[in-house]
Amino acid sequence: MGETSVRIVADAWCLHCGHVSGTLEGVWTPRKVVFNTFVPRPGFIGTPKPGERLLCERCRGPILPDNTSRAEEAQVPKSDLS
Ligand SMILES: [Zn+2]
Repeated sequence: MGETSVRIVADAWCLHCGHVSGTLEGVWTPRKVVFNTFVPRPGFIGTPKPGERLLCERCRGPILPDNTSRAEEAQVPKSDLS
């Protein structure tokens, strides 16, 4: 049996000014939540280089995923079909 995991999508919003810079995508498992993909909005300024912190394009504030209100279930590949 595989591990339960759910793909989640959240707005990447600024803690300081509330500006939404794009979308964060990640994976939820019972043990942890990992956001590993940032999808900038169209026209996003200042795409971070690998290893850099993601900052608000407007005020350079910290960017957080919003509540996982937009979480959506995704199909988890079944590798043990037989
Ligand atoms: Zn901001």
